[in-house]
Amino acid sequence: MYGLSADDRRIQEAARGFVDSVIPLEVEVEMAGGVLTKEVAAEHHARAIELGLYATNMPTSVGGPGCTALQQVLVQEQCGRATNGLAWAMHTPPQWWADVATDYQRERWLLPAVRGEKHEAYAITEEFAGSDVSALQATARRDGDEYVIDGVKWHVTSYNLADYLFVQARLVGGDYEGEHVLLVVDLPWPGVEAVRTPHYSHHIADEHPIVAFNGVRVPVQNLVGAEGEGMTFTQDWFRFERLMVAARCVGAAQRLIDEVTSFARERVVDGKPLGEHQLVAGMLADSATELFAARTMLYEVARSIDAGADRKTLHAQASMAKLYCSEMAGRVADRAVQIFGGRGYMRENVAERMYRELRVERIWEGASEIQRIIVARQLMNRGPAAVLEGA
Ligand SMILES: Cc1cc2nc3c(=O)[nH]c(=O)nc-3n(C[C@H](O)[C@H](O)[C@H](O)COP(=O)(O)OP(=O)(O)OC[C@H]3O[C@@H](n4cnc5c(N)ncnc54)[C@H](O)[C@@H]3O)c2cc1C
Repeated sequence: MYGLSADDRRIQEAARGFVDSVIPLEVEVEMAGGVLTKEVAAEHHARAIELGLYATNMPTSVGGPGCTALQQVLVQEQCGRATNGLAWAMHTPPQWWADVATDYQRERWLLPAVRGEKHEAYAITEEFAGSDVSALQATARRDGDEYVIDGVKWHVTSYNLADYLFVQARLVGGDYEGEHVLLVVDLPWPGVEAVRTPHYSHHIADEHPIVAFNGVRVPVQNLVGAEGEGMTFTQDWFRFERLMVAARCVGAAQRLIDEVTSFARERVVDGKPLGEHQLVAGMLADSATELFAARTMLYEVARSIDAGADRKTLHAQASMAKLYCSEMAGRVADRAVQIFGGRGYMRENVAERMYRELRVERIWEGASEIQRIIVARQLMNRGPAAVLEGA
């Protein structure tokens, strides 16, 4: 099925086995507000590395497993089957890091990140700059051999667990005044402070605080790429991560359909299984059909990446995959809650957790509206054949 090779199936099975082993912890972790004990988190982390499921997007040249895009998708698809971020142990550092890191950056951050010894976080979004990244107000000013960063970042995922941050800021002064830079900031670091840690709909170990940068000084060696290139890396990250969001949504939908089908077989209402009542049967069939369409699309985009398809076409197709798979998963979760009935509204039920957790997939890494804008803009500028056939 889906034309997977023996190697593809091997890594898919390894990821499936790992995720199956963490699923039994979901309810306990949910009730504990998402927090895992340090020992359990460390065991998951070590096992993900041992199984070759860590940094799957990293080439062998930096010590990664050198997986194909399709294999990365297969791993992240399994990741999506668990709630409460329990499978986030199969972590992927930014893939562009391997291409642009200087020798210093490679030794200090990249290689340790690939080995799983250091973990990064991203500080890009601000109170008034989210969808429109170009509206960033945070600044970076060159002062001798240092950059000085000032600003406030929102939703900094994993800040509480990270060893270093990528901070995107607008340059003040110099030849690239007003353009963006990406700088690395070690944590903890003088002048970097979590202002507030809001609570979100999901319950996971990774927090998303608002983080202030007050006169934060970092050496010029911490500049990623060149001045003015900040947006390039963010765009590159989006292309990769949008596909991985799509993969996790496909995995989530698979889990929901597995669980809700079992329930619809066992629960008897008016003398017959719930799934034999036509209105419920329709919901099951719609969910399975949409999942099949989403997965087919997802694997096709991954294969196009592996085949070296046109970058712009892939940008649009990654947006289409993220848009369709995240919206599909939202519909599947909604139907699953409905089929589970009152049980589906209990936090101990997977459908209730997925219903909440999947909502953000339509918001982060570019909201659905932004994905539609990207696709429509390419249709208008490059034509349907470029977007749909890569012609
Ligand atoms: C749980 C969580 C974790 C996150 N983690 C990180 C992180 O680690 N690092 C980081 O930098 N950011 C992070 N983000 C931020 C995330 O990427 C942004 O929330 C997202 O890009 C949307 O930006 P915004 O929230 O500012 O929404 P806005 O830009 O204020 O948009 C609000 C809504 O308006 C609509 N909209 C916006 N622009 C348009 C338009 N041009 N046309 C039509 N409709 C439009 C969309 O529906 C959008 O959802 C995280 C967010 C969440 C919720």
